Amino acid sequence: MPSFEARIKEELVRLPRPLEPDEAQGPWLTILLDAYHILTIGTTLAITDEVTRRGVPPACGAGCAACCLRPEVPVSQLELLGIWWYVVERLPAEERLRLNERLLRHRDSRTCPFLAEGRCSIYPLRPLACRFLHVFGSPCKTEEIPVETRPQDVWLPREAAQLAAFTMLPYFGFNTADACRQAMAEGYLVSVSTLMSDFPWENLATARKK
Ligand code: SF4
Ligand code: SF4
Repeated sequence: MPSFEARIKEELVRLPRPLEPDEAQGPWLTILLDAYHILTIGTTLAITDEVTRRGVPPACGAGCAACCLRPEVPVSQLELLGIWWYVVERLPAEERLRLNERLLRHRDSRTCPFLAEGRCSIYPLRPLACRFLHVFGSPCKTEEIPVETRPQDVWLPREAAQLAAFTMLPYFGFNTADACRQAMAEGYLVSVSTLMSDFPWENLATARKK
């Protein structure tokens, strides 16, 4: 059987990522979208294997959002740029207005300001950390931390996440495979991440299109 990395590469050829016109402005958006695409493709492959192994699908699905009510989500500088871009350049005006109200009041609540009516309003640009966690069995209860209450039901696409993180590193100046491997081993991305809830999202509420 081919390695997991080889299977991802085959899938990337079969399912190339759609290009964004704004990618012409600089490499950061391409790096970020490539990393998210690799994680999506890799997660789809790996979860298919996991569902076969467990014999049941994951409990995660549309409208299930207890994990967004008090997220402890680390976000790297690159991912923050992506969220900023998506909100300013891609969100429809009406949705943006509703989001701005939540951004201005985000310190009043632990709920992620991007959660709107049970769905993520920045879903295509949601951070890596929001893409990792998968839970089998029953959906999480409000306030439940499944890693603590039932670790056997928690599944993370580790290999795909590593490949995605590796893909982001050139943005931070790591330009050789050896430098990227060392940065991964030293937890570089975590060291340049902030918690989602600590970011001054109020400023995004007043940001304008270019
Ligand atoms: S992690 Fe838990 S709350 Fe979040 S989507 Fe999956 S089952 Fe639902
Ligand atoms: S960014 Fe989206 S997926 Fe992540 S915590 Fe917020 S609402 Fe949930």
